[in-house]
Amino acid sequence: MKQVIIRFLSLCTAMIMLFGSCRASAAETNAVSIAPIDFQNPDFIRGMDVSSVIALEQSGVVFINEQGSKEDIFKILADNGVNYIRVRVWNDPYNADGCGYGGGNNDVRTAAEIGKRAAGYGMKLLVDFHYSDFWADPGKQKAPKAWIDLSIDDKCAALYDFTAASLRTIRDAGAMIGMVQIGNETNFGIAGESDRNSMARLYQAGSQAVRAFDPDVFVAIHYTNPENSYIRTMADFLHDYNVDYDVFATSYYPCWHGSLSNLTDTLNYAAASYGKYAMVAETSYPYTLDDSDGHPNTVSERNNNTGEDMLWDFSPQGQAEEVRAVMNAVNSVNNGMGLGVFYWEGAWITVGDVTGLSGKKYQSRVALNQTIWEKFGSGWAASFCAGYDPDDGGKWYGGSAVDNQAFFAPDGTALPSLRVFADVLPEGSYRLGDADGSGEIDVIDATCIGRYCANMPTDIPEETLLHGDADGDGSLTIIDATWIQRYLADMEVGCPIGVWKQGILKG
Ligand code: CA
Repeated sequence: MKQVIIRFLSLCTAMIMLFGSCRASAAETNAVSIAPIDFQNPDFIRGMDVSSVIALEQSGVVFINEQGSKEDIFKILADNGVNYIRVRVWNDPYNADGCGYGGGNNDVRTAAEIGKRAAGYGMKLLVDFHYSDFWADPGKQKAPKAWIDLSIDDKCAALYDFTAASLRTIRDAGAMIGMVQIGNETNFGIAGESDRNSMARLYQAGSQAVRAFDPDVFVAIHYTNPENSYIRTMADFLHDYNVDYDVFATSYYPCWHGSLSNLTDTLNYAAASYGKYAMVAETSYPYTLDDSDGHPNTVSERNNNTGEDMLWDFSPQGQAEEVRAVMNAVNSVNNGMGLGVFYWEGAWITVGDVTGLSGKKYQSRVALNQTIWEKFGSGWAASFCAGYDPDDGGKWYGGSAVDNQAFFAPDGTALPSLRVFADVLPEGSYRLGDADGSGEIDVIDATCIGRYCANMPTDIPEETLLHGDADGDGSLTIIDATWIQRYLADMEVGCPIGVWKQGILKG
């Protein structure tokens, strides 16, 4: 009996340690500690997809910086080192009554709004065309409603025209488009076509539209499941069919996608065999196993594959370590061809916190969340998608499946892990425009630049002053001071002001 009691007590202790550590880690706001990376590519992309953010804001979600003040999420991201924003585009994510399918209702207009706001804080935009009216992934690549009956010739023309027109709309809104994805996770098809010849023609139509729009914009092709050697054959296929592209991208979710060394090897294959840049277009990691919105999460208490690929704690520290590790794996691609990493939907938090609620209180809050998701499209799918996507979205519609993988707590406060996007940079790194080295872009920077350009003395070392190069053109002029004034006045800037840059390494 005594042994049974001791066993029971040991079990209790283990349970307390287990759950105690989970809860503590979710609530902790202490700084995380991250070792820097010496990036081969000094402009290594430290990106984030925040496609759902407009719908979330419409749902009443606010974002709060580390100091506890409400702030524009794009400023919070830039302040913490994010230098690139990714946004998905669906052609027509609405039913015949104009009700949104959900998942952020990410049409072209929404992408333009996100791109414009990102540019206001110096961040470039990756436009992720799904060429579908809703989610496209290895399980489904449905053509947009308007394209369903088109021949392959007409579909290529429609894809070209849609790409060109969308990019113009997004650029004209003020976005700084740096890269375009021709399709999303297109392992087994794109825009309703799955034979290789049609796929290659559609990729090429999209690529040509991007080249005509702006030859400096990168064209990316995106696959997933890097744990499967199959995706290496896609690099061969793109080469064999003469698809013109710059970046071979994959998703990497450690729960499902194999080891980091395999990730590097896979990216190396495309980079070394065909001279392409390589990138992780999506990754994420939970900072907690708790759900906060009443919709089940993809990684949860009973589904968290603690096997060899989930190497980190489910805590802000573990989340930051995952981001660092994936960046390191991409940076390990040979010859500096590792272009960067995008975190997927790092702000898709709850529209109404259910943490700590139970019984009827829990049920009624979840019911309220459901009405918000339906009204604003801020859940992963709304019921209105059923006509277009009956077997998935129409059946399982609801809220966020990744609120526990965001960089924001349920109340919208930035987690300490968000800082990984700046902390991963080596010593000597700085923000473009920060002429006095304070870490902030403010009016003092403009004053310092003005004095420097007028050959007047400042107390700032010249090496630091030169970081005031707000537009990143390599020289410090009075125009940089003007950019700073516009930035501070929340006017359009159209240059990389405020983004964190890797410093020149010494020694
Ligand atoms: Ca959830």
